[in-house]
Amino acid sequence: MSGSLEIAVSEIFHSIQGESSFAGWPCAFIRLAGCGHGCRNCDTGYAEEGGVTMTVTEAVSRALSFGAPCIEVTGGEPLLQAGAYPLLEELCENCPQVLLETGGFLPVDQVDPRVRIILDIKPPSSGVSGANCIENLSLALESPHRFEFKFVLASREDYLWAKEFIFGNLLAGTCTILFGAVFGKLELQLLAGWILEDRLPVRMQLQLHKYIWKPDTRGV
Ligand code: SF4
Repeated sequence: MSGSLEIAVSEIFHSIQGESSFAGWPCAFIRLAGCGHGCRNCDTGYAEEGGVTMTVTEAVSRALSFGAPCIEVTGGEPLLQAGAYPLLEELCENCPQVLLETGGFLPVDQVDPRVRIILDIKPPSSGVSGANCIENLSLALESPHRFEFKFVLASREDYLWAKEFIFGNLLAGTCTILFGAVFGKLELQLLAGWILEDRLPVRMQLQLHKYIWKPDTRGV
């Protein structure tokens, strides 16, 4: 029974979705523990290891107890755990909108097709941009409605790199593309100006939860 599989969970909480086209919606989050990719701008270092062990079914029932209209599985890097796949499947059986946020280093071809995948593309300032899993791009072009590509940018260099990436990989005008700023590192007005000047077909986003609560608050 896949529901009895165990997963390592960093936290399960109820908050406002902050970073996708679902931003602003009440959302239950299941943050799986474990990562190790070492992105320089990571803001969830506490979830890179450890976590509490529970079954997939226990995690699903905790998340459902909030009665939120959507549930997001995040991390850490959730796809490092084999239990992430049955977890997403069981959530899809019970909730109309399931989101997955992944660092974008691992293939997503085994993820339940009902899941909306928010996939990070790491720019140069992350120190790990060479590790992006490029195979995911062809899957996105086949089923663009399943994907949102998220770029969290720290500089003009990151912005120019991301602009080239979305056009070079045919994502512009095909998939939802999210451009945001590393909190406190890139001025939002600068980023907005560049997007408008270049007439980019991207959605600018804030990390909404960092404006509602203090930026380093956990469990939101
Ligand atoms: S993939 Fe995500 S959790 Fe892992 S180090 Fe990078 S930003 Fe942090």
